[in-house]
Amino acid sequence: MSTQDGSQEYDALVIGAGPNGLTCAAYLAKAGAKVAVIEKNVESGGGLLTQEISGFKLNHHATYMMLAERMVPYSDLNLADRGVAFVRPEAQVAFLFEDKSSFTLYTDVKRSQASIAKLSPKDAEAFGRLHDDFQKMCDAFLIPATYAPPVEPIEQVELLQNADKLGKVIADISELSPLEVIDRYKFADRRVKAGILYLSSMFGLDPEESGMGFLAPIYVHRLTQNALVRGGSHQLASGLRRTVEEFGGRVVTNSQVQSFVMEGERVVGVRLADGELRARAVVSTLNPEQTFVTLLDGTHAAPAAAGGQGKGGIVAAWGDEIAELRDMASEWQWDEWSLFVCSSGVVGSAPKYEGYEDEVNGALVVVMGFESPEDVLHHVSELRDGKLPDAIAGHGSCLSLFDSLLVPNHVPFGEHHVLRWECWAPYRTDWEARREAYADRCMEKWAHYAPNIRHANVRVRIPWSPLDIEREIPTMKRGAIKHGAYVTLQMGYNRPSPDCSSYRTPVKGLYVGGASTHPGGMVILGSGYNAARVVAEDLGIKGLPGEDATVTEARRKGYLPKAEA
Ligand SMILES: Cc1cc2nc3c(=O)[nH]c(=O)nc-3n(C[C@H](O)[C@H](O)[C@H](O)COP(=O)(O)OP(=O)(O)OC[C@H]3O[C@@H](n4cnc5c(N)ncnc54)[C@H](O)[C@@H]3O)c2cc1C
Repeated sequence: MSTQDGSQEYDALVIGAGPNGLTCAAYLAKAGAKVAVIEKNVESGGGLLTQEISGFKLNHHATYMMLAERMVPYSDLNLADRGVAFVRPEAQVAFLFEDKSSFTLYTDVKRSQASIAKLSPKDAEAFGRLHDDFQKMCDAFLIPATYAPPVEPIEQVELLQNADKLGKVIADISELSPLEVIDRYKFADRRVKAGILYLSSMFGLDPEESGMGFLAPIYVHRLTQNALVRGGSHQLASGLRRTVEEFGGRVVTNSQVQSFVMEGERVVGVRLADGELRARAVVSTLNPEQTFVTLLDGTHAAPAAAGGQGKGGIVAAWGDEIAELRDMASEWQWDEWSLFVCSSGVVGSAPKYEGYEDEVNGALVVVMGFESPEDVLHHVSELRDGKLPDAIAGHGSCLSLFDSLLVPNHVPFGEHHVLRWECWAPYRTDWEARREAYADRCMEKWAHYAPNIRHANVRVRIPWSPLDIEREIPTMKRGAIKHGAYVTLQMGYNRPSPDCSSYRTPVKGLYVGGASTHPGGMVILGSGYNAARVVAEDLGIKGLPGEDATVTEARRKGYLPKAEA
């Protein structure tokens, strides 16, 4: 593994083969750079994890793709030609209530409005307004800004305020909490408001967190346009990995980076258990604590003879900068709560929601247990206090209804099904003791609405707690699905810190590009995309695709800074 002659073997090394690491490496490899990705796990993919057992394909982590084909790398890297396809069900999310009422949101807003109108015609109109506003915000700014480096907060607000009316609205709502943004639409029916609020928080966003209002349009709008990766989420990782390898890059799995290799004040490579690899640039997609504490400490501790700094090396060389990075990393706020998932492969029939409108049976996501906005807020407040909520509430998906590749022999609409339950859960619980019993309670809750699932023959069942998330993927410490909380001081230009938000770090040769950088977590590939562009610029690698047209348009409209000549 080591470079025999000590020469620089790679242009870039990427630590972590999650969606962002693979994206970063794929762009660089395609542009002609010599690249390797180093991954701790036996298989690449990070959050794009699909486990196949007895022919059932279970996504323990990322499942719902909010941007799907709209991810710029999807087209830039021709992922469609590399086996990545999305399935987008028309009926996206159904919300069930105890009195057997329900409503369903569709990809088509008119159908959503018709469904809401059965509960409240006034709210159907309000939803139409919300949908139009949120869609415009996503198209004009929020999605393009995903594929551009973050802008210093005051400058960003000024740009939006001065651009046009839409820009001003985005700037204004950015100050608010998601709850306050939703309140602007004055939903009258408790059930409709509960549903919209749940969508805004589904991925662990606190609905009462000020300064996070701009995420409400993204989550609410995009969670009505969700897609599955056909054949399991891991197919997306496979497509990205194929791109890396097709252009001569390497993906080294089962190999944990232990520390950096330094020469003077510059990171020149990484140290693995069985040797080292060297490069002109090292991109870490790990969380700030791993990058700036664990790996730098490892570098500090390694004796000079082993390519480390020896005692006092790094800290003596640039004490203040390292101290600041370490402080930032040790003060990093982890997501306050995580997710509990229970996936099963069953022989039986798909869930039939007894007594409910037929439309809910075909929905991708079926939300159960939240009767009112107060329920959602109460649930969140329990999680904020680190408690496992008393009442079970969350959502279920029968993924095999939309993708027959997930079941044995790929028989569509047959007797095999993949059921996936997901709900919010705290990290701090004795999951070792409670995992199975909690999964029982979740499945019982689901069966309360769809009694027929009690009769299924369960062939495989894997409950997956925040502890399992952390064990599988150490970047997700405490089950942090986005590598760190979404709070004002950790978003945009502050993610992970102003010093590192350009994807460059104060340590020469070291870059960051995972979910702890702008635009953050979820499978949107923005961090890896942005980091690749910066690394290419610094290394003088030509041949990356030009800026996406939507970003150029956002610049033209004044939402983003004009490109430098
Ligand atoms: C239960 C759950 C459900 C989710 N649902 C969704 C969803 O529906 N939709 C969605 O968009 N997102 C979802 N997410 C979030 C999404 O998976 C993450 O935000 C995303 O994977 C982050 O991508 P990343 O590349 O930055 O990091 P990661 O995916 O965390 O990848 C980092 C990689 O680095 C590797 N690594 C760690 N330490 C080392 C080391 N020292 N050396 C080498 N390699 C190392 C890890 O093994 C991992 O493969 C979910 C996550 C979880 C846990």
